Amino acid sequence: MRVILTFFKDIPVLFRTYVSPQILHDIYQLIVIKAKRLTGLFPVEVHVTEHCNLNCKGCNHFSSIAEEGFLEPAQFEKDLARLAELSKNYFSIKILGGEPLLHPQITDFFDIARKHFPSTVVQLTTNGILLLKQPESFWLSCKKNKITVSVSQYPVKLDKKGIKALAKAHDVKLIFNGTTAEERMCKIPLDISGSQNMKKSHRKCPISWGCCVTLRDGRLYTCCIVAHIKFFNDYFKQNLEVCADDYVDIYKVSGKGEIIDFLEKPFPFCRYCATSKTSFAQRWGHSQKNINEWIDTPARPPAGG
Ligand code: SF4
Ligand code: SF4
Repeated sequence: MRVILTFFKDIPVLFRTYVSPQILHDIYQLIVIKAKRLTGLFPVEVHVTEHCNLNCKGCNHFSSIAEEGFLEPAQFEKDLARLAELSKNYFSIKILGGEPLLHPQITDFFDIARKHFPSTVVQLTTNGILLLKQPESFWLSCKKNKITVSVSQYPVKLDKKGIKALAKAHDVKLIFNGTTAEERMCKIPLDISGSQNMKKSHRKCPISWGCCVTLRDGRLYTCCIVAHIKFFNDYFKQNLEVCADDYVDIYKVSGKGEIIDFLEKPFPFCRYCATSKTSFAQRWGHSQKNINEWIDTPARPPAGG
């Protein structure tokens, strides 16, 4: 019953905060995510590569300002074994980045994920740029491990026909997500002073309901922003603090119920997000690595004012 109530509670929040050309897609996504909670499948994202070959302006994973970095398969195995211990059927796994296809051992992650989660969805989320360059062994591993290849679309040239043909030839499930429209980037502006109201920020946040729950070094975070803020702090010499109340340590919880309880609630880091100023149709472009791509910038005074 609580899950059903939460579901209906989120719809007005969407309408208040989320009016944009993307609204139908977003409502659809909300329904999918909530349905996954009801049916017992909860997507968990893992960065296997920190950096990216597309370097988008204002990337919400901070990959365009991240140092080159690769996840060790051994760390992935340790964390997934623990997650599976908490529930083998409840979590589905999204392998992403940054750009995951930059990882030289990408297929190791497929084997590990499928070993610990034999019957749930394991998805590779990629910008697709490197898909046609993958060796035969990549496609064979996707097939063997039943990996869903999900291509996040951007306004860049991509040989969709060629990718579709390869996936079909290897009997691999392929989906194209998002849009190639120029105005497609979501910006949740950061308030580096941390003076937002935590509860209000969380309530108005378009991603607080579970679309990008992130597992990083044994910790589960509600969203990609808090999970990867380290890259923003390092690059711009900032100190947006992450404390022990901002995540769940999967090695300390007694069961998946504790995780779900945590994911439903606001947490201290939300005070850094000016979610009431979220924009869903920022023009896509390459990052200039300028802090204004991520922070809440004052509105320009009217001309002549
Ligand atoms: S493709 Fe995705 S991960 Fe890479 S920079 Fe763009 S938004 Fe970030
Ligand atoms: S930290 Fe909180 S308010 Fe900010 S994006 Fe994540 S869930 Fe939303």
